[in-house]
Order: sequence, then structure tokens, then C-alpha cells
Amino acid sequence: MKEKLTHPIFKIVSDCAEAINVQAYVVGGWVRDVILNRTCKDIDFVCVGSGIELAEQVAKKLGDDYHVTVYKNFGTANIKYEDFEIEFVGARKESYDRGSRNPVVEDGTLEDDQNRRDFTINAMAISLSKNNYGELIDPFNGIKDIEAKIIRTPLGPDITYSDDPLRMMRAIRFAAQLNFQIEKNSFDAISKNKERIKIVSKERIADEMNKIILSPKPSVGFKLLFDSGLLHLIFPQFVLLQGVDYADGKGHKDNFYHTLEVLDNISRHTNNLWLRWSAVLHDIAKPQTKRFEQGHGWTFHGHEDKGSRMVPKIFAELKLPQNEKMKYVQKLVLLHLRPIVLAKNEVTDSAVRRLLFEAGDDIDDLMMLCDADITSKNPEKVKRYLRNFEIVRTKLKEIEAKDKIRNWQPPITGEVVMNTFGIPPSKKVGIIKDAVREAILDGIIPNEYEKAFQYMLDKGKELGFVPMKNIFNSNG
Ligand code: ATP
Repeated sequence: MKEKLTHPIFKIVSDCAEAINVQAYVVGGWVRDVILNRTCKDIDFVCVGSGIELAEQVAKKLGDDYHVTVYKNFGTANIKYEDFEIEFVGARKESYDRGSRNPVVEDGTLEDDQNRRDFTINAMAISLSKNNYGELIDPFNGIKDIEAKIIRTPLGPDITYSDDPLRMMRAIRFAAQLNFQIEKNSFDAISKNKERIKIVSKERIADEMNKIILSPKPSVGFKLLFDSGLLHLIFPQFVLLQGVDYADGKGHKDNFYHTLEVLDNISRHTNNLWLRWSAVLHDIAKPQTKRFEQGHGWTFHGHEDKGSRMVPKIFAELKLPQNEKMKYVQKLVLLHLRPIVLAKNEVTDSAVRRLLFEAGDDIDDLMMLCDADITSKNPEKVKRYLRNFEIVRTKLKEIEAKDKIRNWQPPITGEVVMNTFGIPPSKKVGIIKDAVREAILDGIIPNEYEKAFQYMLDKGKELGFVPMKNIFNSNG
């Protein structure tokens, strides 16, 4: 493996380890990734001795610009070097208590350290000692599992997952990220130990779920989560999408598999986690809004509205952010049918203007979600939808070029209304202001201040207000 250690950091660590007379190894994810030809910006070094001391030596050698962050409680030390996160730790042996996924740790050998690792592909080490520099130490034949694309635990899977149930999420995440199979005994052990996931913090689970969502084909991970029963425990709302009801011999589509198809579709075009989350959640309220209407078939009226209102609670439960990211997902879920409705009907200027106003800068993302949402198996239908979306896109461009609605703030604010008519804040101020905005969006008046101001005067008069005398000097 010598040829893989091209970066100067390995030689530096090797020299420092020799200077303080410890054996050092590069271990874990970096070794796995270098064999897989994936880039990895985290490098973990393990030494038989003090990782902190080794880190301090290395930082000294690197120069004044580098310093060590020590995590005493964990016995680890970290250096940021170029765009790498380098971590040092002493080899350790672990034993677990049933109530916690945090083990009792004691000093150990390299072998102990490899034994405690989650998967054979993550348990490989490359020696940095002078006598066998570059030698791969692979006690569980991880290299063979990489070739066979298999996720397997070094020790018995039952104990491995029960000890630290986060590993169940990690197994599924690696399967999704790397397109590997989870070995059968391992998968059975995940199913068996699924309830143990309850001792893992929601934040950790969310981290892994986000990595699954960011994987090249996220449906792989979601199906494994579903088949193992983990999804029912960590994201029950999503499981409700699964299944088909029949009435009068008619079924609807299975929204679980439909959603996963939409998610895979959008993942071919974007790495934006939150746009991918919008795909995950776009139909989340279908189970709650499902009706069978005689003569009509299955309907899901209002699922976009209810779905968008479910987003904050789901985000809170999953410990996802409660900030503008959540609002973005909410907005896309709310608007996800609008371009389709537009494409089905005549594409009027005012409907396009309204959509642009509501979607703002997220309009392109919304259109991408709508493209991904076309999962019909009928090629004619797909063609027709895509063609209609092209018309919507062209129209969006035309209207935007003309009316600049995307980041538009309506010209007549409440302030302008109050100053013009000399009135205090009231409901009627809002009525006048909204009337002007709607008139512009509907194309009744152009998006120009003068015209909007005049329209406001007319609306005000209708409600019995008279403009202040000098108003044309101050606002006109
Ligand atoms: P990624 O960087 O994509 O998360 P990684 O495997 O590098 O993947 P880290 O969390 O950085 O993940 O872990 C580094 C190494 O530590 C792993 O390769 C593995 O050997 C070990 N490891 C991490 N988490 C666990 C765990 N829960 N149980 C056992 N070993 C673990």
C-alpha cells in the first residue's frame, strides 16, 4: 500500500512516531476510501501509545501555523491541515454496557483497536512504522469484502449492533453510499436489534439519514431501513406512505415507492440536501388526505397544504434545523403541484406571475422537483408533461424578464397607504395594500409605481378615505 501514501503527511507522522518510539498506523475510513479510489478528507491515525503526544509532535513538525485540539475525555487530538481533518488516537479496547452506546475504554493493542471497529471494510490499517511502512494490516479480510462489495461486521453482528446500535444506521448508510450489500447475517441482526436504536440520539440518526439522502441512489438506503423495520421507528410518517388501497376495483399508486422514485430522480440532478428533503416530504400528507370519491377515484385534495404544515413537526422530531432550511422545504412542499396545475391548464400570465411571486428565487428548484415528480410509466404521458413544463418554463422566463417578479416587493407598502390617507394601522390598510399587489399579479395594472399609486388612491376612496393634501409631493 506504500504507493497510496503519496501525501507528505504520512512520512511526517511516521518520523514523529519513530521519534517518540510508538507504532503508528493510518486506519479506518481513509484506508477504505483510498482502496475504493474515493477522496476522503478525514485521516485517522492510531498509535500504540498516546495519540495526543503523537499529535503534538506532528504539529510541531508541521510548523507554527498548526495547532492541536485535544479532546481529553476521548483521548483524541485533532489537527486541521490543508483541507484535511487529521485525528490521532491511542489504540484502545472497548467494552459496552447495555444502557449506553458509549463504551468503557482502556488502552489496547492494534488488534484490540481493529476488533472494536464496525465493519471489515472499516477495520483495515496501513502501518507507518519504518520496518513495514505501507503494509496493509487487514485481519478480517476487508479488502476481499471491498471487492465483493459486502458490508460485514468483524465480530458477531448481533453483539456488534446491540453494543452500538448506531452501527445499524451506518451499515445501511454505507450500503447506500457505496452500493454494497449488507451480508445476510448482518441484516438479520439489524432487524433483530432494531429496537435498540432507541438508545441512539436523534441527532446521530439524523446525521446518518442525511447521508443516506445524499447518497447517489437514496432509495437503496430507504428500502433497507424499511425492510429492517428501522424506518418504522425513526420516521413513522414516511412508512404510512406505503401500501395501496382499493375501492370499486381501483387502486392508487403506492406513495412510498413513488416518493422514492421522485427522490432518486431529483438526486440525479442536485446535491442540495434540502431539495432532496423536499422530495422526501412532497407527498407526506397523502395518507391523511386520501379519499375515494365516487365517479372520480382516489383523491388527495389538499395534501400539499397539509404536508407543508406537517414539515415543522417532522423536522423537530427528527432534530433537523428549524430555520430557513425548514421554511424552504415547507415552501416547496406547498407549491409542488402548482406548475403541474399550470401545465394542465392554459398557461396565463397572471398564474405564472403569481407562481413566480410565491416561489421567488426557489422557482428553479421547484421546477426541478416537479420534473422529478413525473413517474408515470406511460411514455406518452411523460412526454406530454415534460412538454408542458417546457411551456411553463418559457413563460416563467418571459414574465420574469418583463415584470421582475422573482424578488419582487410590492411597491405599495402599508406605510405608503397610512401616510397617503393619514390613517393609523388598521385592517383596511391591509385590504388596500393587498388589493394593489393582487392587481399587479393579475395583470390588471402594470408593475409600475405610478400606476400602483393611482390604484391605491382609487381603492382608498372606495373605502371612504381621502388622501392628505400634500401627498403628491411626498410620495409621487
Ligand atoms: P464517513 O467519514 O463517511 O462518516 P468513516 O468510516 O470515515 O465514514 P467516521 O465516523 O469518521 O466514519 O469513523 C472513522 C472510523 O472509525 C470508521 O472507519 C470505523 O473504523 C470507526 N468507527 C466509526 N464509528 C464507529 C462505530 N459506531 N462503531 C465502530 N467503529 C466505528
